[in-house]
Amino acid sequence: RVRTRYAPSPTGHLHIGNARTALFSYLFAKKHGGDYILRIEDTDTERNIAGGEYSQMEGLHWLGIDWDESIDKGGSYGPYRCLERMDIYKKYIDQLLAEGKAYKSYSTPEEIEKEREEQLARGETPKYSGWDRDLTPEQQAKLEAEGRIPSIRFRVPEGKSIIFEDAVRGTVKFDSDGIGDFVIMRPDGRPTYNFACVIDDALMEISHVIRGEEHISNTPRQLLIYEAFGFEVPQFAHLPLILNPEGKKMSKRDESIIQFINQYKELGFLPEALVNFMALLGWAPEVEEEIFSLAELCQNFSLERISKAPAVFDTGKLKWMNNHYIKKASLERIVELALPYFEQANRITLPLSEIQKQWFTRLVALYQEKLDQVSSIVPLTEIFFRSEIEYNEEAKQVLTGEHIPIVLSAFLTQLEAEEEFTPNQIKAMFKRVQKETGYKGKQLFMPIRVVVTGEVHGPDLNETLSLIGMETVKQRIKRLVD
Ligand code: GLU
Repeated sequence: RVRTRYAPSPTGHLHIGNARTALFSYLFAKKHGGDYILRIEDTDTERNIAGGEYSQMEGLHWLGIDWDESIDKGGSYGPYRCLERMDIYKKYIDQLLAEGKAYKSYSTPEEIEKEREEQLARGETPKYSGWDRDLTPEQQAKLEAEGRIPSIRFRVPEGKSIIFEDAVRGTVKFDSDGIGDFVIMRPDGRPTYNFACVIDDALMEISHVIRGEEHISNTPRQLLIYEAFGFEVPQFAHLPLILNPEGKKMSKRDESIIQFINQYKELGFLPEALVNFMALLGWAPEVEEEIFSLAELCQNFSLERISKAPAVFDTGKLKWMNNHYIKKASLERIVELALPYFEQANRITLPLSEIQKQWFTRLVALYQEKLDQVSSIVPLTEIFFRSEIEYNEEAKQVLTGEHIPIVLSAFLTQLEAEEEFTPNQIKAMFKRVQKETGYKGKQLFMPIRVVVTGEVHGPDLNETLSLIGMETVKQRIKRLVD
């Protein structure tokens, strides 16, 4: 049975890189009708943050990724939080100690650091010396009497090739001589990531370990542990790195990329756009098509089509995709998402009256096509909330035309005669002005657009004028006619 997992450490919000890992792992499980497990790897207690678990889960849910087993749902392979599995790890540590496959190690952090520096100074690759591999019980007792509390190290066999078939990278080979004996349990009894990960993946019967390439150097260590216990080895798939738009390795402090899923949400990215975009970060469908829903991705996903080459994060493409999904979304949904941005910009207080709601719905409808993130509605609609119009150079240029006063006066006369100001009525007014003055097209519309909005470009003019309202339009034209 296919069983995959996403195993976040609750050290922060859901990061875009981890979200991609979570997504690929999910897609693979669902493609094969398998189980998707969310496991919380919280044994690095110094790095855990309050709310970290919740925030990871919330981010996944927002993206539409749900799991079959985890801390909130249970499952028959629990507990799903590593700190609740301490007795399990202890049992397996004891087994390795009893079999001589691990040993108590007495170096202090300072001694380890010193050894490392000396090795570096000699031009060697740092590696634990293993001086305490074969101490007698008496020697151990003496060291403990000094107050040293041992950690547990895995005894790495010498001269061994560690080979595995990675679903993405193909045959991967490591030499055990490059790997020093490594800590699997800290002095306080907490297992390290490499150890807990193997025990959990094995006991949870994970069939495919899909994770970021940054973990590939952990894999030989983990394989040694699998071997020590005789556990069945899962299929590994290490996902390619994500490069920032400049083609450099993405880091969590990188400002060229929006880093966290909650930030995307706050800026008005739609989850389906982000899912679609992330799916293409390192995976390519067989077809030319690029637009895929989560359900379609579940059908089409395969490990074979994951690329070895790093994926470049193309912000332009993400925005294009988001715009695509915003256009496809219902107007009601975009209005719901847009209103909080107007509130943040102090343009409204929620809840709105029915009339206000209608007005904002029309306003959002006018700009929906243009949005590449919903929050852009605020800067785009600024002219509707300005009390004073400023004319830029281009606008001023338009207003120097000789026909301007004629068009403006004729339009004003139409305005004075009308009661209502719907787009259709405005259209009719323009027709009459055209008849009367002989001006049409750009010569007719541009002066009105510029006088009323201060800008030479904008969406549908009749709707724009109608939304700005008759009184304001009148005032703005009058100022230039008198
Ligand atoms: N807790 C690890 C991380 O957040 C998981 C690595 C793995 O998938 O094995 O990177």
